[in-house]
Amino acid sequence: PTQSSTLVSRTPTPVNTKLTTKLTNSPHYPILQETLNNVFKLQSFRKNQLEAVIACMDGRDVFVLMPTGGGKSLCYQLPAVCSSMLKNQVTIVVTPLLALMADQVTQLRSRFNINAHAWSDSSINFGHLSSGSIPIIYVTPEKLKESGYARSTLRMLAAKSLIGRFVIDEAHCISTWGQDFRDAYASLGELRDLYPDVPIIALTATANQTTVNDIITQLKLHNDVVRLTQSFNRPNLSYTVIEKKSGFKNEIVDALGNRFRNQSGVIYCRARQTCESFAQFLRDKGIRAGHYHAGMEPDDRKQASDDWMEGRVKVIVATIAFGMGIDKADDFGHKDFTATQDMINKDEKTDLESKQRQIAAAKEIYAYARNRSTCRRKQVLHHFEEPFQEEECQKTCDVCKDPLELINEDATDIARAVLKILSHATRQNAHLAQGTIVAALRGSANRDVLQKGADKLEGYSLAKGVDADLIELTIKELMYIEVLQMHSVQNKFSGYHNEYITLGPTAGLFLKELDNKPFVLGWRPKTRKGQKGRKGTTRADANTPSAGPSSATMKSATSKRKGKGKATE
Ligand code: ADP
Ligand code: MG
Ligand code: ZN
Repeated sequence: PTQSSTLVSRTPTPVNTKLTTKLTNSPHYPILQETLNNVFKLQSFRKNQLEAVIACMDGRDVFVLMPTGGGKSLCYQLPAVCSSMLKNQVTIVVTPLLALMADQVTQLRSRFNINAHAWSDSSINFGHLSSGSIPIIYVTPEKLKESGYARSTLRMLAAKSLIGRFVIDEAHCISTWGQDFRDAYASLGELRDLYPDVPIIALTATANQTTVNDIITQLKLHNDVVRLTQSFNRPNLSYTVIEKKSGFKNEIVDALGNRFRNQSGVIYCRARQTCESFAQFLRDKGIRAGHYHAGMEPDDRKQASDDWMEGRVKVIVATIAFGMGIDKADDFGHKDFTATQDMINKDEKTDLESKQRQIAAAKEIYAYARNRSTCRRKQVLHHFEEPFQEEECQKTCDVCKDPLELINEDATDIARAVLKILSHATRQNAHLAQGTIVAALRGSANRDVLQKGADKLEGYSLAKGVDADLIELTIKELMYIEVLQMHSVQNKFSGYHNEYITLGPTAGLFLKELDNKPFVLGWRPKTRKGQKGRKGTTRADANTPSAGPSSATMKSATSKRKGKGKATE
C-alpha cells in the first residue's frame, strides 16, 4: 500500500508512463524542474532523480542506491535549494571525508552560485543557519558526534522546523557488513531519536541487499521509506580481462596506440610508486600520460585530473584514489593477488576482522579476473545480488565474445604430477618457478630444467604431450585454492624478484581427496589452425558464477567431457 513499492525498479524497465505522469503531477514538480534548469543548468532528470527529489519534498525518508556517477548529489542538492527558498530550511549533509566536503562546497559555490558551507569550523552559528541563507551545510559524522555545540545548534533549528532533512552520503559506511565501516557513522542512528521530525535521506553506490537492510535499520528509517534502487548494469561499458604476462607493458603501449587510439583512459595500479613509474614509462614511449594518487599534494592532484579531463594527457595512471566505484582492475596477474594479500596482512592499523574481509574482497576480484566462463556483466552484477541474463550482454565482454569452446577437463593426473614434482623438489631444496615445473612435467630438458636439476625429480616427464596452457592453468588453480603457494625472493645482485612455487597448507588433504573427487577445470584450448571454435552450446556451467578456471570445482566427472550449455540461462 505504500508509495515506495511503486517506485522500486531493480532491473531496467521501459519508461513507465503512468509513473511519470504521476510524478509530474506533484505540486512540487514545477519548482523542481525550474530549479533544475535555472540553478543547476541541467535539461532533464536522470533515472530516479525526479522520484528522489519529489519524495524529499514530500518529507519522506528516502534510500537511494545509484552507481557512482549516476547523479546522487542532485537528489539532495536540488531539494535543499527548494526547501531553502520555500521554507528557509537548511539541509544537513553528512559525508565521510573532509576533502570530499571541500570539493562539493567549492563546486556548489562556483558552478551554481549556491551558498553552501562546510561545518568544519566554529564560524558557523545558529544565526547563520536560521537565517535561511544557507541551503546546504556539509558536516562530518565525527563533528555531529563530538561537538555539543553543533548538536545544540541543531536542536534549536529543529525546534523551529528549520532543518529540511538529514542527508547521509556514502551511507554504506554505517554498516559493519560493508567494506568501509566507520565508527562515527554508527552514531548517526541517534539522529532519528534526537530529531524525530526531520526526514533522513541515505545515499550509496555500494550496497548489497544485506547492507541495504542494515543501513535502513541502523538509521531507523520509517517503514514507508521510499527505496530507489536501479540496475548496476552499464550497457555503455564493455569488459575485457587480459592476463598479465611478461611484456604486458608493451602490450599496453600497443593497445593505446591502436585499439584505443583517439581515446582517453585510466590505468589503475595498486601502488603509488607504480603509478609514477608506469606513467613515466608511457611518456618515454611517446604517450601523453600523467599520474594520480593520494600521496600527491592537493594542487598537483587537481592539476593531474584537470589535464586528463581537458585532454592534455591521454592516459592517467592512478590508484583507486582517482574516482571510485566498481573499477575492477583492468589487468591482472597472480602476483597481484599475492601482493595485495601481503599488503593487507602487513597493515598494522587494521584489525583481524577487517583484514579477513579485505582479503575476501581481493579474492573475489581475483576470481572475477580468472573466471573465463561466466559473462563479466553477470559476475559484476552478481556481486550486487542482481540477476542478469547473459543474452543482454550482447557480446560486449571478453567471455561472451570468446569464439573458443569452453570444455571441462579432468586435470586430476596433472594435479597429481604437479604435487609429486613439488614434494620432491622440497626435499631436494630446489626452488622451481612455474615455467620450470611446466617444462619438466612435459619432459623438456631445457637449460632452466637442467640447471635446477628438475630432470632428476620424481614426476619429471609425467605430463608428456599435455598442453602447456593446461598445466599452467592447473598450477594457478591449485595456488588459488591454496594447495600451492607462491614465494618471492629478491635477487641480491639484480634486485629482481624471483618467484617459485611450493606446496601449500592444504596440499596433503587435497591429495587424499583426489582419490574420490576428480579435479575438473574449465578451459578453452586454442583451436588448431583453420579450425573455427564453436560457441554457444558448450558454455560450461555458465550459471554457476564459480564455474570455470576461476574455481575449478572438484566434481565426480569421469573423464574429459564437454560442458553442457544451460539453455535456460
Ligand atoms: P554520484 O554522487 O552518484 O557518484 P554525482 O552526483 O557526483 O554522482 O554526479 C555525477 C555527474 O553527473 C556530475 O558531473 C553531475 O553534474 C552529473 N549529473 C547529475 N545529474 C545530472 C542530470 N540530470 N543531467 C546531466 N548531468 C547530471
Ligand atoms: Mg557522490
Ligand atoms: Zn558478457
